[in-house]
Amino acid sequence: MDKKKQLSIEKMADLVRDECKVTDYGFNNIFEAAGKIGYRVIRYPIGSDSFLGFALIKDTERIIFTNSSSILAREIFTIAHEIGHHRLHLSELGLTVIKDDDFHETNDYEVEANYFAACLLMPRDKVEKFIRLELEDKEANKWNGLDIARIQTEFSVSYDMALIRLEKLGLINSSLSNGLKIEKAEKTTSRLLNAINGNVDLCKPAEVKNVPPDYLQWVISNYNEKLIPFTSLEKALNYLGLKAEDVADIPQEEIEEEYSLDDLIGRME
Ligand SMILES: [Zn+2]
Repeated sequence: MDKKKQLSIEKMADLVRDECKVTDYGFNNIFEAAGKIGYRVIRYPIGSDSFLGFALIKDTERIIFTNSSSILAREIFTIAHEIGHHRLHLSELGLTVIKDDDFHETNDYEVEANYFAACLLMPRDKVEKFIRLELEDKEANKWNGLDIARIQTEFSVSYDMALIRLEKLGLINSSLSNGLKIEKAEKTTSRLLNAINGNVDLCKPAEVKNVPPDYLQWVISNYNEKLIPFTSLEKALNYLGLKAEDVADIPQEEIEEEYSLDDLIGRME
């Protein structure tokens, strides 16, 4: 990624923070904030070994799905990354879906979405301000795991992401970063967070099931239009704690097809 691209992504991330009216160092609740700026956010625990999330344009809607079986800090990174795909890569007339099994930087889009997420969650100016005002300008070579845990809590990121970002911003060098990583391994992040009254929830999966109310209508209409098989309808309703027979007038066709989440929202290809 060249410098020009980097700066334009930084600008874009700043703009999104403004739209979300983020006044603290980090987002208070990025899932709600994304909803307020027009994204339809679906969170569902689909298993820790399943994919992380996707960004999708469907008709007039911009949808973000995040797997809430990931630890919360990772799920927060996921939504930031998917907002990045929406802002940078998806358009009504072009590419309409990107699904993320992982965040390996296998192509330019993934590199850019990761960079966007880092800038959105930990913008340079806010990180520098935090270090100056909250860590009282403590020199980086005197930082310990507790300082990183404070940064992690304030910016709602994982311990490792905090270190990666601090290193990328040139605020710590790699040997310092490695030392702090070892400290984490020895103490575990939860204990570090406990020690500072930090947000221990960041280390656990939220397992949140947040499905918008009209999602049900949408799934049923997809089924009625024969866009999804009965098994997918069942599975989708099951997510909401409903059974197919709860929903009136649905003939039980037996279509055996391997279930995939793509089916829930209609064919995306
Ligand atoms: Zn991606």
